[in-house]
Amino acid sequence: MVNLRFEAVAQAFRKRPIETAVMKERPSEYFAKYVFNRQKMYKYLPVDVYEKLVDVIDNGTRLDRSIADAVAEGMKQWAQEHGVTHYTHWFQPLTEGTAEKHDAFVEHDGKGGMIEEFSGKLLAQQEPDASSFPNGGIRNTFEARGYSAWDPTSPVFIIDDTLCIPTIFISYTGEALDYKAPLLRSLHAVNVAATEVCHYFNKDVKKVSTNLGWEQEYFLVDEDLYSVRPDLMLTGRTLMGHDSAKNQQMDDHYFGTIPERVQAFMKDLEVQALELGIPCKTRHNEVAPGQFELAPIFEECNLAVDHNMVLMSLMKKVAHKHHFRVLLHEKPFAGINGSGKHNNWSLTTDTGILLHKSGKTAEDNLRFVVFIVETLMAVYKHNGLLKASVMSATNDHRLGANEAPPAIISSFLGRQLSDLLDHIELADKKDLFTVAGKKGMKLDIPEIPELLIDNTDRNRTSPFAFTGNRFEFRAVGSEANCASAMIVLNAAVAEALTNFKQRVDALIAKGEDKTGAIIDVIREDIKTCKPIRFDGNGYSDEWKEEARKRGLDCESSCPACFDRYLNEASIRMFETTGVMKRNELEARNEVKWETYTKKIQIEARVMGDLVMNHIVPVATHYQSQLAKNVQSMIEIFGHEEGKQLTARNINIIKEIAERTQLIETGVEELVNARKVANKIEGARERAFAYHDTVAPKMAAIRYQVDKLELVVSDELWTLPKYRELLFIR
Ligand code: ADP
Ligand code: MG
Repeated sequence: MVNLRFEAVAQAFRKRPIETAVMKERPSEYFAKYVFNRQKMYKYLPVDVYEKLVDVIDNGTRLDRSIADAVAEGMKQWAQEHGVTHYTHWFQPLTEGTAEKHDAFVEHDGKGGMIEEFSGKLLAQQEPDASSFPNGGIRNTFEARGYSAWDPTSPVFIIDDTLCIPTIFISYTGEALDYKAPLLRSLHAVNVAATEVCHYFNKDVKKVSTNLGWEQEYFLVDEDLYSVRPDLMLTGRTLMGHDSAKNQQMDDHYFGTIPERVQAFMKDLEVQALELGIPCKTRHNEVAPGQFELAPIFEECNLAVDHNMVLMSLMKKVAHKHHFRVLLHEKPFAGINGSGKHNNWSLTTDTGILLHKSGKTAEDNLRFVVFIVETLMAVYKHNGLLKASVMSATNDHRLGANEAPPAIISSFLGRQLSDLLDHIELADKKDLFTVAGKKGMKLDIPEIPELLIDNTDRNRTSPFAFTGNRFEFRAVGSEANCASAMIVLNAAVAEALTNFKQRVDALIAKGEDKTGAIIDVIREDIKTCKPIRFDGNGYSDEWKEEARKRGLDCESSCPACFDRYLNEASIRMFETTGVMKRNELEARNEVKWETYTKKIQIEARVMGDLVMNHIVPVATHYQSQLAKNVQSMIEIFGHEEGKQLTARNINIIKEIAERTQLIETGVEELVNARKVANKIEGARERAFAYHDTVAPKMAAIRYQVDKLELVVSDELWTLPKYRELLFIR
């Protein structure tokens, strides 16, 4: 019998890097080659159309439908020069990935022939047959069809022979069926709220935009090895597999030399990403063997989210070409680090001020403190919801377990900033701020040395760390759409800023000086949000206890975390900021619970299959080999001595028998738990049942399988082992 595992290992070992042609141009020259950016808009659109479109993009003015035709014409011309024949509305449904349906440019010409056509109408709006996208019942409830609508703030791009048009996906009654629509609303909300607060400091500010710089972690596994791991193929993670004797204990992988085949993959990926306008900057090995990271330079949030979605699908394609498979799952291997997607987030004004960066003058620093403290207020008030925004069946393995980042949201500020906030909180207000008659005012807000602030961030256990000029939200899952976390963060910060402004204005109305009023409110908020500040070790048990005392959300069950979306405080926050309505939140939660259930259900099925068809037969086969050996030894040496000499084999025979029995009953129980759970009516209750009764049964089975892996002859084992999956590349 051929053992596919050994064939795969041999194949994988023989592979050499696939070098791609060296680019003749410099990155700055091929950057955004396949993006209809401003430069191309200017070239391919009439001047008046160009100006109107830029106004829509920069100032959020309404798109004048009369220019849509001209824009479409320009896009088509540019696209055709690149050999493009099709176009698609590209959107982000609630299934983590992206969706597209390609249509050719061709139309009947009315004379029996065809012409290439692309109109403004087709650019602006479409009705994808959306019945198969998750919608949590919205489309049934409202008897509304879904349609996709062009988002002019994210430029169209070309992939292969297709022009991709970023779109939102909503129902005819206006409910969001995707991530982009609420993301855009949240960006608008934070823009409005932050701009108003900026006016305390500078009346010229017209717009505040959100920055996002994501860091994408991922694993690469050789394709041949992958192909003989049905669990990786169907669920994205290994459902079984004993630890490799060597894994990450030497800390020798992080920032180590990048393996050649991987380096070739990275180069290829970067060129293609740059051509699509993704400003790739950093690449390195991550902590776990086989784990890597890619990070571009930060961009405007909506664009950064789109770019991350494009990158994730590009990675899959390019990996394939290099005979790898990319694993975006948050926890593909037990016992070693999982993958996340750090979201570096900050706000910038159109006057060029980074609002999360300290300044030179006391006034600048007051503004800085306002934005820091109100961000903390948002995170404090909605810490449970923020956690929910990054929770999923897959990220559950990181957040629920004792791994980076922990399942409690807290914020690390570093010494400098902590000291500054303490100073403002504790100092006598008169010392902090006095209006000294005609001489102007005195503001005692100490300067923060820039260099020191750059060094603040090295607390890797904090899920929401201040890192010098931004916050880094580290709990986001590697597979997730960044938008989910950004929607909540932006909306929560918008709410906090609005609330801040109302209170400051009220004090001003009572006759207080503006700066004095700001300081009053800030001092109050520094006290209020103090429980969210934590600079210690986020993985420790003491912190769990302490966090509970502080009233932070300590829930670690994924489906239970989703309840946070439907708290009255969350609903109020989403509704007042105009980001989402109650019915949208309810519908989206149905989808979240459904998705959770389905993921665990698939894993449970794959696991049942694998253990009954791979593990148990192999173990039994080995057991009979051993039994034969014992028998023949007894024949040769007689009963007593034969048994003595084969004592070890007899023990293994027994161990295999016991473990396979436990596995068999485990699988039976697993199937029964599923049957019971499947009968449960509500999506929420069903997800809870899957979490509480199905998932733990899988862990119990895995334990036995991993023990068997250690005793069964390596020669017979059919599933590539951890050491092979992690170290061959
Ligand atoms: P780390 O040290 O955490 O690995 P990097 O220096 O590699 O971080 O940067 C991580 C990401 O943060 C990059 O995408 C970078 O462009 C982004 N970033 C830097 N400054 C800001 C900022 N002010 N706002 C948002 N993102 C930023
Ligand atoms: Mg980082």
